[in-house]
Amino acid sequence: MPEAEMKAVMKMKSGPGAELRNVPIPRPGFGEVLVKVKYTSICGSDLHIYKWNSWAEQHVHPPQIMGHELAGEVVELGAGVKSVAVGDFISAETHIPCGYCKSCRTGSAHICYNLKILGVDTDGAFAEYIVVPEVVVWKNDVSIPHRFASVQEPLGNAIDTVLSEDVAGKTVAIIGAGPIGILSVGVARISGAVEIFVTDINEYRLKLAQQMGADHVLNPRNEDVVKAVLEATGGDGVDVVLEMSGNEKALIEGCKMLGLGGRLSILGVFDNPVKLDLNNLIVFKGIRVYGITGRKMFSTWYKAANFLRTKKLDLSPAITHEFKLEQFEKGFDLMKSGLCGKIVLSVDS
Ligand code: NAD
Ligand code: ZN
Repeated sequence: MPEAEMKAVMKMKSGPGAELRNVPIPRPGFGEVLVKVKYTSICGSDLHIYKWNSWAEQHVHPPQIMGHELAGEVVELGAGVKSVAVGDFISAETHIPCGYCKSCRTGSAHICYNLKILGVDTDGAFAEYIVVPEVVVWKNDVSIPHRFASVQEPLGNAIDTVLSEDVAGKTVAIIGAGPIGILSVGVARISGAVEIFVTDINEYRLKLAQQMGADHVLNPRNEDVVKAVLEATGGDGVDVVLEMSGNEKALIEGCKMLGLGGRLSILGVFDNPVKLDLNNLIVFKGIRVYGITGRKMFSTWYKAANFLRTKKLDLSPAITHEFKLEQFEKGFDLMKSGLCGKIVLSVDS
């Protein structure tokens, strides 16, 4: 009997691009489940893999199925799976922990010493089916729309960055209104931030930030954003800065608009080592700095689920485009243009 096949967006070789291929449907091994993907969304790292930057070259080993953000239905269980059933509506944490190292054993599995990444170290979710280890399966409430469920992973980045300390009653500046910056606006808003500033050089994305609830959107190409934030806060600066641009100049602006004793959470990933006046922008200002990677496993997911199940957080403005899996190239082109928020791909079979 011929093996059953599925459509998959694959990185076939080193270099730019990706291809839609028919490949065998994978089988779940011990401690793994087979998931029929309903929605998958495109992450900035997928674009890096598509364009094949130096990070992708070092970490991805083609041929491999791309993608890691997903919502779908469990259709088959591998041996030994205990907590998941066929028919469960699930998403998945991307960080696959070993379960045994110092981080894993002290409640920080997201920074596991032996971390593997779904869709980077394993075949990914841009396909009709994906095999996911049980340890990273997240069961969704059935009331959550599939397209919202598929973006919980980047939503988790936003939640972890915004809530690395509380924001209730505080002023917050979000540097960079990419998909995660925009999601962060919504998270900060419902978590009690009283005034939200957002900076970006992209007017389309600044509009999205406004739709998600930003009070002030600022474009450093049009104005002195540091001056604007200092003026609006009576000269004090904001209580919290969330760095979500990965741009050195923007990070420095963020540091300058942060008030004394403030909190800086950095999610952005920089192309090169950053030159920052640590003495004057961090040390003497008494700033608390958090480096954010991934999401807390799984406290962040419980927060995301609560925000979505109770409909306190509406992701509609942040999800600007929906295509079919086969149209993935359209999605990548749009991401390159910057004229988008989060892009989701529906998978029907
Ligand atoms: P993105 O690249 O789509 O968004 C970055 C935004 O910053 C863009 O809208 C861009 O126009 C804006 N920007 C560029 N220069 C700017 C400037 N000078 N001032 C203000 N804004 C500027 O990325 P994203 O998917 O929203 O992710 C945000 C950042 O977080 C990226 O750097 C990404 O690599 C990183 N990231 C980190 C993790 C982690 O675990 N640490 C996970 C996911 C993403
Ligand atoms: Zn570990």
